[in-house]
Amino acid sequence: MKFDTVIIGGGLSGLTCGIRLMEQGRKCAIVSSGQSAIHFFSGSFDLLSRVNGQEVTNPLESIHSLPSEHPYQRVGQANIARLAEEAPQLLDRAGMVFAGTAKRNHFVLTPMGTMKPTWLTLDDFTSFAKNDKLPLSRATIVNLQGFLDFHTLFIKDGLTRYGVEVQVRNVAMAQFEAIRRNPSEMRSSNIAKVFDQGDALDQFAEKVNKLGKESDVIILPAVFGLFNTTVPAALKARINKPVVLLPAVPPSTPGIRCQIQLRQRFQELGGTHFLGDMVREGKFKGNRLRYVNTNNHGDIQLEADHFILASGSFYSKGIKAGPYGLFEPIFGLDVDGENEREKWFDKQVFNNQPYMHYGVRTDARFRPMINGQPVENLYAAGSVLAGSNPLKEGSGAGICLLTSLHVAEQILQDQDDEERYI
Ligand SMILES: Cc1cc2nc3c(=O)[nH]c(=O)nc-3n(C[C@H](O)[C@H](O)[C@H](O)COP(=O)(O)OP(=O)(O)OC[C@H]3O[C@@H](n4cnc5c(N)ncnc54)[C@H](O)[C@@H]3O)c2cc1C
Repeated sequence: MKFDTVIIGGGLSGLTCGIRLMEQGRKCAIVSSGQSAIHFFSGSFDLLSRVNGQEVTNPLESIHSLPSEHPYQRVGQANIARLAEEAPQLLDRAGMVFAGTAKRNHFVLTPMGTMKPTWLTLDDFTSFAKNDKLPLSRATIVNLQGFLDFHTLFIKDGLTRYGVEVQVRNVAMAQFEAIRRNPSEMRSSNIAKVFDQGDALDQFAEKVNKLGKESDVIILPAVFGLFNTTVPAALKARINKPVVLLPAVPPSTPGIRCQIQLRQRFQELGGTHFLGDMVREGKFKGNRLRYVNTNNHGDIQLEADHFILASGSFYSKGIKAGPYGLFEPIFGLDVDGENEREKWFDKQVFNNQPYMHYGVRTDARFRPMINGQPVENLYAAGSVLAGSNPLKEGSGAGICLLTSLHVAEQILQDQDDEERYI
């Protein structure tokens, strides 16, 4: 099978690359072995929230303070500013509306009742301009009876510190009795399926409206709209107070919905998506990758002019740590990181952990290397890249979105150059 580009990994990075290339009329396939980090989506995409422990107000102005090996520095400040405008437009074309700008972080409430700075927030959730004061004085937190993945007392405790008067209430509904019998079934995605259809949403809203009469806002877990994208807006329309949704413990309902919408956009553009398949190995000729083999395709080779590695970090097995060191499991690419295990981590768990910076080494064009030589037609994007600590910096999704758009541009440029040459 022959494609213009084969992308390894169908998380935020792989899908962003695929959509961008398909929008430009390129023929792409994505091979993805399983779940991605979007299933842990909190509702916001971070660009840059902290540098050297200091909170960032304007991410674009703070990029120059990052180390030179950081993916943002390597994409370049001007490109980051331009691509940060493009990213929400791409998400919008896939049906997702986000609020926020790269020139100024806004704030969102966390499931701990604290505020965190971020870049883009999905319209299910509520953005705040400031983090020193909340524009509310009385809140009612409403949970579903038996739902253990929404920690109302943490939220209450956090909000009380902002001077908000909080009451916590539970709503029992017959529709959840069956899944409640087994606590492992009472998960956000199963609850969301119930609200996706029928009259459960109407009944729920009616019960909530009786509880929060004295409050400025109603705070609910984000368990609305798994396959049905209209549910979050329908919920807000039915509740007669402003609604603030807060993330529950993963799997994230809005995250799964975003993943589905991105995949649908890619497929509607004509992209081929091999879900549940895994790239095993690749065949090289000189410094070029000719094709890859996958578990499900057996001897059928997936050939392409270009390949993109978007296989994620340790969490998705894009990078692995074995008894004798770190390695990239598909092609044996060069990895930036220490091989001695005791250097991987700091015993103080909240310190800057060295392993968070590890990933594949690339040249200036984001082409990974084997023994120091870049593979001419292979690019890497997203969390598989070395050089950042997304957790400490608050930069995870930003690195994925912007390096993916950048890599797509590199490939489009390569193809234009090749066509001009021919
Ligand atoms: C738990 C968690 C929570 C996060 N929360 C936030 C947040 O709230 N805000 C934020 O800004 N950022 C957050 N991030 C960071 C950011 O969202 C992620 O880094 C980003 O989504 C990663 O996208 P990715 O596509 O690079 O990798 P992944 O999402 O890890 O996707 C990689 C994909 O590649 C597939 N794959 C791997 N190997 C192969 C193979 N050999 N063949 C085929 N497929 C393969 C995997 O199955 C997976 O689907 C979070 C990250 C994690 C891990």
